[in-house]
Formats: sequence, C-alpha cells, structure tokens
Amino acid sequence: MTHYLSISEIQKDLREKRITCVELVNYFLTRIKELKHLNAFLDVYEEEAISHAKKSDEKIKNGQMGRLTGLVMGLKDVICYKNHPVQASSKILNGFHSIYNATAVERLLNEDVNIIGRLNCDEFAMGASNENSAFGHVHNFVDETRVSGGSSGGSAVAVQANLCHAALGSDTGGSVRQPASFCGIVGLKPTYSRISRYGLIAYASSFDIIGTLTKSVEDAALLLEIMAGKDEYDSTVSSSEVQQYSKEILPAKKYKIAYIKDYLENPAINFSIRRETENFISLLKDRKHTIEGVDFPFLDYMVPTYYLLTTAEASANLARYDGLRYGQRAEGIHELENLYKKSRTEGFGEEVKRRIMLGTFVLSEGFQDAYFTKAQKVRRVIKDKTMEILADYDFILTPTTPSTAFKLGEHTQDPVQMYLQDIFTVQASLAGIPAVSFPFGKDDDNLPIGLQLMGREFCEGDLLNLVNQFVNCP
Ligand code: GLN
Repeated sequence: MTHYLSISEIQKDLREKRITCVELVNYFLTRIKELKHLNAFLDVYEEEAISHAKKSDEKIKNGQMGRLTGLVMGLKDVICYKNHPVQASSKILNGFHSIYNATAVERLLNEDVNIIGRLNCDEFAMGASNENSAFGHVHNFVDETRVSGGSSGGSAVAVQANLCHAALGSDTGGSVRQPASFCGIVGLKPTYSRISRYGLIAYASSFDIIGTLTKSVEDAALLLEIMAGKDEYDSTVSSSEVQQYSKEILPAKKYKIAYIKDYLENPAINFSIRRETENFISLLKDRKHTIEGVDFPFLDYMVPTYYLLTTAEASANLARYDGLRYGQRAEGIHELENLYKKSRTEGFGEEVKRRIMLGTFVLSEGFQDAYFTKAQKVRRVIKDKTMEILADYDFILTPTTPSTAFKLGEHTQDPVQMYLQDIFTVQASLAGIPAVSFPFGKDDDNLPIGLQLMGREFCEGDLLNLVNQFVNCP
C-alpha cells in the first residue's frame, strides 16, 4: 500500500481507480491489529468502518465524492461521536456513550470522513506523556521504550505509525503540538474560538481547542477549513470569516519572523534542539525570509500561570462527575455525600485528583486574589507582550519542546518536571493565538525534533503557508 502523505493523493488514486475505500480501511485495520501493543486505540469500529467504506466506494462510482471521502480518521477520547463510547481515558466515565456529535465531528462526517476508532490520551487531557491514562501508556513508534507525548498521545502515534491517515486531538497547553513533535508529524492548534468546543470534553474552557495531527500541512489546512466557524451550540466561537486555508498555503510567501533569544539560551533546552532551531533560522535566511532575535523575559512565568489557571478551571469543570449523572457510580453507598466522595475517589486518577485539589485551593476564599486573580493578570501581560512582538513580526519561532521523546517512566515521579515539558507550548495557549508544531531534524538518537511557529489570531492561512514551505514528514 502506498504511504499516502495527503488526502489529495488518496483521492487522486480513488478517482483513478488505483485503490478503493474498502482496501484502504482494511489496510489500516490490519496495521491496527499488528501494532496493537502501541496502545494507541481504545476502541476500533471495525464493522462500521468497512460498511462506511463500501458506501463511499458507491459514492465514488456515482460521482458524489465528499471532500473527505477516503479519509480514515481517529478521534481523541475527549471528542463526542454519537452512539459511541467517550470517556476521556478515565474510569469515571466507564460505560458512558455520547448521545450527540461534536460540531467538529458533525462537519467532518458531512464530508464523508470515515471514523475508525477512539484514541488513547491522558486522563481528561491532563498530561504531557500519555502516562496518565486509565488505559495505560502509549508507545512511541520510533522507539517503543519512549513516550508518545501527551495528552493526545494516541492520536499522534496513530498517525505516526500509519494506523489511520489523520487524527483529531485537543490542545489546552500543548497537547496537540507536543506529541506531534515527539512523533515527527504536524500538529496544529488553531486560534482559541476558531473551532466549536461543543462536544469536546472540557478541561480548562478558556484554553481548550480541537486541533489536528496530520502528515502534511495540506491536510491540516483542509480539516481546519471544514471544522472552523460559527456554531449555534457554542457562543464562544468566533464569527470571523473562515479562510480557504487549503488555498492559502500556496503560492509560497515571504514572511518576517522573530525568534526569542532567551529561549534558545535557556540551559534546560536539549543541545540538538538548539542546533536544529539554529539550522532552521539559517534556512529561513537562505530562503529570503526575514528573521531576527527579540527579547521576551517572561519564560519563568509561563508554566506557573498556566497551571494556576487551568487547574482552577478544571476543578470547576470536573465537578459534574459526581457518580450520579455520568458513567461510574460507587457500589453499596446509600448516602449522597459519601456517594459523591467514593465515586470520585474511585473514578479519578492521581494526576486529575492533584489538579482538582490545586484548582480548588487557588479558588478558595483568602487565596483567590493571591493566586487565581494574579495569574489572570499575568496572563494578560503575557498576551500583551506577545502581541507587541506580533505587531512587528508575522510569526514567533520557538522549539516545541525542551527535549525529544523521553523514556517511559522518566518523569512520572516528579510532576514539576512533567509540567516543565510545556514551557514553550503554553505561551500560545495563554495568549489564545494559533501555533503549529512541525518536524525539523532529528537528535543524536534519531528521535524527531519539532519546531513551533505562533502567529496572530486567525492567521492560520499564513502560518500554514510558511510551514508548508519546509515540511516533509517521512
Ligand atoms: N501538558 C499540559 C497539561 O497537562 C497540556 C495538556 C493539554 O494541552 N491538554 O496541562
């Protein structure tokens, strides 16, 4: 089977009858079985995927191809798909089935996407290694002793190992970009409010956004174009015009880019990542883009601000899982308060409990002003200072992560080390701006390196245009 890099390549072969949708689906189903030990999929919708493919083949015969006919996709286990299980990789949602489609999913289905299964992730999308899932960790396909990244680890490995063609993830502080970087693929986090959050299980609502994991920039552009835009079920979605991103990526344009000097000089950053970032800076110059170093002395504030705000929002969002309304209920308890306590104690994993407690603390009387309100003010400063740079430059370049994929278990005993993995990704999340991680070079262990570009709100067209000039996923 050809290793397709984009949906347009697949559709060309479908049109020219070199392949059928059924053959494609069978290929992915076989690979999913062969590589089951990677633990990327939580459920595979085998029969449905085959019957969907049969219908798609009929559509092709009748000349009724959708824009996504032939595309086989997986969904991170935080995105609702009607009549299918969804449980944020948590025991607390055991047995829960979604009764509606997320708006993003509905729009993809309208273009004939074939959803092959749901994908492992960190519990409630809280994590940076996929080691916080109630269903076990995911292995990186490049080196199975290493993490996939997280929280959209299953989504990244499914695309990396070619278990499906593309996947949806969600990004609150880096969960699409960081696993994409560890797996050598393209991860797009759109502008906050670009895509409806209806049907996305909430972690921190002022940060959460659905994103894509793909092998090509072209696919990221097409999927965004289909999913983005106004939605009557989510009043926070922007009504600003949805560009035709798939056309915006060509022809190649020249841009003015800033890189943050303090980030590259930071001792925490791995040598080979610094080297590849510098190589990319030289390449940008060679290709006649403008690239300049700027100062931005706020790196130390990023991770604390992000974790104060997201844990606060998470503690409120996760209050709904009380053992009565959704999923798992503790057995043999006949008193309400104890039922809540026992269900939540049994249902949530350690990291989720840690964050609910931290979030409850920062919102509690006497501490709210010192922590939560202050963090909101710092968020504003970070956003304003980021926008000051973006007033002079089209994009900001940073590494996506301080290290490449680390060993399974390497950071599980030290939550702070794990949180520091997010040091470069949370800036775009705090500012609500779009960012993309793309593969560029390898480290000395042959592990993929990801670089990140951030841009102004709603500039996804230009952002993807620039990345498209450089990306070549394997
Ligand atoms: N690693 C970050 C966290 O644990 C990012 C998670 C995400 O983007 N969902 O919060």
